[in-house]
Parts: sequence; structure tokens; C-alpha cells
Amino acid sequence: FRILGIETSCDDTGVAIVNSERQLLGDAIHNQNQIHLENGGILPPVAGFHHRANMEPVANQAFTAAGLTMSDIDAVAATIKPEVGMKYGTFLCKKWKKPFIPIHHMEAHALTARMVDENVRFPFLVLLISGGHCLLALVEGVDSFLLLGKSMDIAPGEVFDKFHRQLKLRNIAELSHLSGGHAVEVMARKATNPVEFKFEPFSSDVTCDFFFSGMVTKIKHFIAEEEVKYGTTADGVIESAPNLCAAMQLSITKHLCRRVERAMLFLERKSLIPSSSRSLVVSGGVAANKFIANGLKLVCDNYNYHLSVPPPKLCNDNGVMIAWNGVERYRENVGILKWNQLDDVQVSTKCPLGKDIRQS
Ligand code: ATP
Ligand code: FE
Repeated sequence: FRILGIETSCDDTGVAIVNSERQLLGDAIHNQNQIHLENGGILPPVAGFHHRANMEPVANQAFTAAGLTMSDIDAVAATIKPEVGMKYGTFLCKKWKKPFIPIHHMEAHALTARMVDENVRFPFLVLLISGGHCLLALVEGVDSFLLLGKSMDIAPGEVFDKFHRQLKLRNIAELSHLSGGHAVEVMARKATNPVEFKFEPFSSDVTCDFFFSGMVTKIKHFIAEEEVKYGTTADGVIESAPNLCAAMQLSITKHLCRRVERAMLFLERKSLIPSSSRSLVVSGGVAANKFIANGLKLVCDNYNYHLSVPPPKLCNDNGVMIAWNGVERYRENVGILKWNQLDDVQVSTKCPLGKDIRQS
């Protein structure tokens, strides 16, 4: 069977067609990044306007790429929030009398690894790290998650983006087209002394929750002081930027690794994960960071986990992950709505990622 997936949750309008054999048959994406950069951030009404303008052309592009039409599609899956993609998806379903599958964006991020990596079987551990989320969960099945930990303040992608702004890395021509996190990662590779600065992440030892804001405040003040002390180069960037990037990247990595390690110990102690299916999936925009992935690989090696990081194209927001989530739900027959039930779709926008077992 073939599923059409539609993603419009943030600033990407993405559409893809994936079949039950894990094959991507065609996809298309339109990114609003440049528009939002000029506005100094994402304004939801502006994003909505561009999603609406691009929805149909992007969908048509995906159909053309796949050489298919709606009559070849078995069901349409779309991210439920915000509603542009869902409205278009339900419109197609009513017109073509096809079933509709509402998808939660974070569930899709968590499941994509299974499309490209056969070794990822239920139950598996997932770490979702993006611009808006930081979650650690045990994925027991398509719609069965146990929440182990989450960020109690901001998400790691936001931490990267804040430093990117404060350090004015966009002024450096070769970094100007990169996302905040990517620019920091590239800058960190130029560090002459990655351990010149030390920013210990705050971590309360009794949970798997994440805390970033303490570290952010500390580094922010530190950078401001450095600027006063040493000034900046012609493009407004301080001399020590590479070493600072390396230090902050290291402390984020350490914090993530310690929480993942704790979760692995917890799952072991509670016998929640059999040794035959020990995988850690890392997804979300920040998963593209090689330094973080290397750190997590060390933890995985230590605890006999298979590390699975989908390629950046699948870790960033895209229609493929929504289509794949649709495939997983369609196969198991969970959460499928008939075309004639779509007039007033009421879906919970609450994150379904889990029964919260953080207190146990
Ligand atoms: P969400 O998916 O939670 O709604 P989002 O759409 O902002 O949030 P993504 O598109 O998944 O998140 O990821 C974007 C984030 O990933 C940005 O904060 C960006 O800085 C960060 N990012 C991208 N590449 C890297 C990298 N190589 N290293 C670290 N962070 C990165
Ligand atoms: Fe996302």
C-alpha cells in the first residue's frame, strides 16, 4: 500500500509518498527559512500564509516525482497542528474517498528511524532533540510510548540558536546559510583548545529530565564579558568563538549522554527492554550534530545498544516521516478515520508521547 504524508507543522511544507515496503516513491519540500530570517523569527500567521500558498504546488510536485496520482494512494496522513496540512489532507480524502490518518509530529520524528533501519524494533529508546523539543521515551509500539524524561526548560536546538545569535555567527560568510546548530558545530571544529572553557551542565541526579537554562545564563554572561575584555573581529565575532562553541557543544553533549545513560540503567533495572532489541534512536534537527552523535555512540557501546540516527533529511521536518508514520499506523490499523467521518475531525493536539513514568 501507499501513503501520502503531509507536514506543515513549522516552517517546512513537505509532502511525500511512501509505500509499505519502506520505499520513498516521491517527495517535495518548500522551506520558508529565508522569509522567517528576514522577519527575525517565525510568525505563525506568516507561516500559515506560506503553507497555504505552497500546499498544493508541493503536493503536485511530490505526485509528479513519484509518477502517481491520488487514485494510487491508499490513505493520507497529515500532521495535526497547525491545521494547514490537515485541512488539505482531509480535503483530498473527502474528494477521493480515502481514509485519513492524523499524525502527531513528535510521534513521526520518533518512528522515522524504522523506515531506514531494520534493526530498530519495538521496544526501543528514543531521544528527540530539536528546536522545540527534548524528550526521552521508550517506544513500545506505534502509539505506545513511555515518557522517561523531558526538558524542564528549553530545548537543545534553542540553546544552539541562542549562542549562534549571541556570537553573531551569521556574519561569517561561510556559515551564513547554516542553521544555528549547524553553524555552531562547524565553528567548534575550528577550536584550538576545546577545553579552554568549561560549562558544567546542571543535572539533578534523580531524574532523566533535562535542564539547559542554567548553563545558558552562565555562558551568556561569560560571552558578554569576553566581548568587553577582548573585543571582536571585523565581522563582530569574538576571537574565542571557536573554543566557546566547542565548550558549549561539549556540555550539551555531556548532559544528553548522562540522561540517556540513566534511562538505560532504569530500563535495565525494570526489565523494560529485552537485550535483543536494544536500540537508541536519536532524531529531531539536533540529531544532525556529529559531535553529539559520537558522544551517544560511546554510551551505546558501553550498554550494548544499537545507535540509529536517521540521515539529516529525515531528522529535520519533512513529509517522509509523516508518510512513514502513516504506513506504521495503517499497517496496525490504529487511528484511521474514514473519509465520511472527516467533517469535524476532533483530534487531541496533546503530545501522545507517553504515559509519564518519570516518577517511578
Ligand atoms: P520541533 O521539531 O520540535 O517542532 P523545530 O522544527 O525547530 O522544532 P527541527 O527542524 O527538527 O526543529 O530542528 C531545528 C533545530 O535543529 C534548530 O534549533 C537548529 O539549530 C538545530 N540543528 C540543526 N542542525 C544542527 C546541528 N548540526 N547541530 C546542532 N543543532 C542543529
Ligand atoms: Fe520537527
